[in-house]
Amino acid sequence: MPHPDLILLNARLLDPATGQFQPHSSLATHSGQIFAVGDDTDVRATVGPATTVLDLRGAVVIPGLIDGHCHPVSGADLTRGTDLSHCTDLAGLRAELHRARRALAPGEWLHGWGLDPNIFGDQPISADTVGPVLDDVPAVLRLFDAHSTLASHRALELAGVTGPRRFDEAAEIVCDERGRPTGLLLEEPASMLVEEAAPKLSEQQFRARVAEVLRGMAASGLTGGHMMEGDPAERSVLRALDERGDLPLRLRLAPWCRPGNDVAELIAAQGEGGVMWRVGGVKLFMDGTIDNGTAWLEQPDCHGESTHPYWGDPAVYTETVVALDTAGVPTATHAIGDAAVRHVLDSLAKCRPIGHRVEHIETLPDDLVSRFAELGVTASMQPTHCCEFTRADHTDNWSRRLGEQRAARAWRCRDLWDAGANVVLGSDWPIAPYSPLGVMAGARHRRPARDLSQPPHGLDQALTALRALQGMTINAGSGRLVAGERADLTVLADDPLRVADTDLATLPVRLTVADGRITHRAADV
Ligand SMILES: [Zn+2]
Repeated sequence: MPHPDLILLNARLLDPATGQFQPHSSLATHSGQIFAVGDDTDVRATVGPATTVLDLRGAVVIPGLIDGHCHPVSGADLTRGTDLSHCTDLAGLRAELHRARRALAPGEWLHGWGLDPNIFGDQPISADTVGPVLDDVPAVLRLFDAHSTLASHRALELAGVTGPRRFDEAAEIVCDERGRPTGLLLEEPASMLVEEAAPKLSEQQFRARVAEVLRGMAASGLTGGHMMEGDPAERSVLRALDERGDLPLRLRLAPWCRPGNDVAELIAAQGEGGVMWRVGGVKLFMDGTIDNGTAWLEQPDCHGESTHPYWGDPAVYTETVVALDTAGVPTATHAIGDAAVRHVLDSLAKCRPIGHRVEHIETLPDDLVSRFAELGVTASMQPTHCCEFTRADHTDNWSRRLGEQRAARAWRCRDLWDAGANVVLGSDWPIAPYSPLGVMAGARHRRPARDLSQPPHGLDQALTALRALQGMTINAGSGRLVAGERADLTVLADDPLRVADTDLATLPVRLTVADGRITHRAADV
């Protein structure tokens, strides 16, 4: 009999299927798998010369937490530069940009991310509204949703963006009445025009940045993620990290399929991978975002926007999804507005239940709630987007655009669950922080993490503690704590089901184990 690589003693083993502790208190792993679960004395008897033995002193072991929707590779690039996500008004934004500007070398680009459009209130989101702090500096500021960018006039000039353009997808260079770009670039095709004019990180710098992000994720308790991207360049970054044993999360990739992309190539890429990563799906977009007026709604928003699908001809989307389904490829489609969700579900009704998913589902009419379970389609939800970017009193940009009725149907995690849907929870990092405990906490309390005294937004859609845990474990494909399952484990200082909603996000993560390897170990373990 082989000796275990790792033994955890004196643990409380929590079963997310039942919410109960398992009768045994020790667990051993071998070669990336759970090898034995038993009593301390029995498990201790299997110790070999190379076994790492840790006394957990009552800490709680759960199956490793999985982020149901994240972008660790593109996010490593998108979170380059200054974090603007703490800025809550224009004065704060200008102060932060002043600081960033002072640190720049001559000619260097200013990168910022996490910009909240609510900062602008009723003023246009434009370089001129931000003011002179951006004068003569090439600056690209990513909006928090990462779908859009605010560029300075100098950046537009360097990128040769001088006026409106036509795009195949829903994208726009926003211009003033004289046809001059204001700096706001809606959706990726427009944003990329300026992003690509900025100097790139070297391959080595970028790989190091991705590794740093993934280490942070492991330290937050994550052992895996559904990575909603994975083009050949992104795959080569993961391949390089994996070969060096530097990939601490088990990543399942869904490369993008945009209108006009070669579906055969995406089908051929399925199954490609290494020890800790694998291509297993395709990501599509049915619309943009409500904040940008690029979602696809059944009725326009209060500005008369959000009326178009991302695909010029939605029937081509349907054909594409059916072609992927026929090839056995599960799809994950970004669908935020009600019309987008409806079209995706109608398309998936022509497919088999092979693990297709809808991502985001921010406002959902009653008649669509039960269709997820009927069609066997997973609902992939990001509860912290509701907590962080909307307000209970509906004074935020998202709610105002939608109006009372649709804003009251925000992030219906509980209704979807009650209707029998498989609900998985994720952060969509870098859109919101990746801490899985923060995501579970948000699903439970629906309040902004920066101020938990704020009222919750739609408390009737909050999940119970057990459901929140299931949404990041078994619903997302984790194993259970039994022999033969993968040794992907998260160890918490206390029972996440009995910690108060408002304390959960700060519950210490003692240990993270992915594929039997320790990827995070607190100083006191
Ligand atoms: Zn995403």
